[in-house]
Amino acid sequence: MAEEVNLICTACPQGCTLTAVIENGEVIEVRGYNCKKGIDYGVAEMTNPRRMVATTVKVKNGFHPLLPVYTERPVPKPLITQILDEIRKVEVTAPVKMKSVIVENVLGTGVNVLASRDMPAKQ
Ligand code: SF4
Repeated sequence: MAEEVNLICTACPQGCTLTAVIENGEVIEVRGYNCKKGIDYGVAEMTNPRRMVATTVKVKNGFHPLLPVYTERPVPKPLITQILDEIRKVEVTAPVKMKSVIVENVLGTGVNVLASRDMPAKQ
């Protein structure tokens, strides 16, 4: 018997309400999309949900004590807590350039964690 799951597509600001139809553990249909990205989103959300992660790391000798960082691509949702734990261990030394790699291949996901901004050193 098929199960229906309602989702909001976040692939663009329109936020279409999707319905994913699941049968025997497989997505057999996605309804409610206004473009084809919605189909991909619905299937990915039901089979391999991913999210962007943004947080901060400590900075030595920085103009501010914390540096905002983000994952360059979405990471698997079930790994987010472990990824945050991994990032929390990091401390960088200023100066840091925006988009510098702060953590390479975080938790073997193939995704780097990058600096969101320049961080000058303390004067
Ligand atoms: S289905 Fe297409 S139009 Fe609708 S929210 Fe997703 S990307 Fe945007």
